[in-house]
Amino acid sequence: MSPTRKLIIAIDGPAGSGKSTIAARLARKLGYINLESGAMYRALAFKAMAHNVALDDAEAVRQLAENTVIHLEAQGDGNRVLLDGRDVSQRIRQPDVTIAASRVSAHPAVRRVLVARQRELGANGGVVMEGRDIGTAVFPDADVKIFLDADPAVRAERRVLQNGDSSIGERQRVQAEIAARDQRDRTRVASPLVPAPDAVILDTTHRNIDEVVAEVEGVVRQRLDREA
Ligand code: C5P
Repeated sequence: MSPTRKLIIAIDGPAGSGKSTIAARLARKLGYINLESGAMYRALAFKAMAHNVALDDAEAVRQLAENTVIHLEAQGDGNRVLLDGRDVSQRIRQPDVTIAASRVSAHPAVRRVLVARQRELGANGGVVMEGRDIGTAVFPDADVKIFLDADPAVRAERRVLQNGDSSIGERQRVQAEIAARDQRDRTRVASPLVPAPDAVILDTTHRNIDEVVAEVEGVVRQRLDREA
């Protein structure tokens, strides 16, 4: 693929739909960078926890966001995340931060701060940005919009395999966590998780990563052909 112009590609969807893996693989193929917007909400949530800022206090979390530097470093298979210069890449994937991220991300004022940063990061194109609202709010004019979805039980099972603990207790915990996050992300007032009207919706329930990457690449190729 030889893009004439560096595109902005938005990949949205719920937890476990395959966003991160697909965004990373697609970015590698295109020579683009992949940016995980969720990592920014996670890093901010972690900082709020560390500073004893109440997660439901929208104004306090907004102020914290204004005074925080979150740096995303695109790597082969995900992002390295620096929070005020400190590497928090591993810590922010832990379950307590996952739930906290979903809570802080519900505040419209907090979203405004992080969305502005996300726009700066992607402004020059050549980016595959993944999250919940990239095609609807961050880049409503993105060149390509993909919305990935999958059956909740399958999404939970993927997370369990990824985490490496498949005990019954852990399975139940992950299923409950995904259900709670789905509910919060889909029903919040500010930028709920919904496909953009012009997104290509792909159900990944019965498809493996290679198949989905090939399909998304096909959509990007069509878009690039229209450019040429
Ligand atoms: O994608 P990830 O699971 O890392 O996102 C963590 C949480 O951050 C999500 O459950 C969601 O509440 C929030 N998020 C968001 N908007 C985004 C990305 C993530 O609200 N663009």
